[in-house]
Amino acid sequence: MPMPFRTPSRWLAKPSIGPVLLLMAAWLAAPSALAAAADLFKDDVEIEAIPVDGPVYMLTGIGGNIGVSVGDDGVLIVDDQFLPLAERIQTAIDALGGDRPKFILNTHYHADHVGGNPHFGQAGTIIAHDNVRARLLGDDSLPPTALPIITFADSLSVHFNGDEIRLLHLPAGHTDGDSVVWFRNANVLHLGDQLFNGRFPYIDLEAGGTVAGYIANLEAVLEWAAPDVKVIPGHGPLCGLDEVRANIKVLRDTRQMVAAALANGATVDEVIAKGLGPDYAEWGSGFIDEERWIRILATDLQAASE
Ligand SMILES: [Zn+2]
Repeated sequence: MPMPFRTPSRWLAKPSIGPVLLLMAAWLAAPSALAAAADLFKDDVEIEAIPVDGPVYMLTGIGGNIGVSVGDDGVLIVDDQFLPLAERIQTAIDALGGDRPKFILNTHYHADHVGGNPHFGQAGTIIAHDNVRARLLGDDSLPPTALPIITFADSLSVHFNGDEIRLLHLPAGHTDGDSVVWFRNANVLHLGDQLFNGRFPYIDLEAGGTVAGYIANLEAVLEWAAPDVKVIPGHGPLCGLDEVRANIKVLRDTRQMVAAALANGATVDEVIAKGLGPDYAEWGSGFIDEERWIRILATDLQAASE
């Protein structure tokens, strides 16, 4: 599979202008398991709408950040968090002047990004990479409305609200089925879980993810995206390419630290006990704490050396 961002001519020319830890178990679980975890979604979880550019907004709540386009053609959303939050998400969309989403784009299959599919798929059309549908099909308990009904291998465009909203599949990084969503005219890029802005990322090695691929995908974004692109990360605050660069540096530096320690004979537990140092305390304060990040790095390094 060619690297999509390294061959931009394949896609299109560049833009013309320039109590979260509690969720860990649920977040990693299949969407169907989340019904049992409904008590995690207290009434005090608020969905906040943050303007990004033009008709594009970011919705935050619990789970992956949601991208929204609201306009004359209706509503399109990117990811839909968790099923128990669906009504609150719709209320936030209504407050922007929107209606029920016509299109739901899934960046990947994780439950904190597609959990609302059974709800939103009743009235809207879900679009995702082939591997997202394949993985969701593996969960027998999901209703048909949870499944993407339009899938693609490399890329797909939705022409909507005066924009070209383009899904670009990435080589394996966070999983083997991730796409980013580029709002071409608005110059907004939803990176899904290819970016945990300011925090160590979860990289799903069991679903085809790799650390090297994850870093390469982010570096490809730097090469390809317009310098002033607005970036919606899968988790963390709205940002731009400077933050993408900062995230790449942390991933590279911490991987190098762990690789060097292991090469010098340290065990993984010894690396964890020693820690990465105070510079990374904040980075380990999210879903993936320092220990989990070191284990991901070590497992990935071991797989890469086999
Ligand atoms: Zn994810």
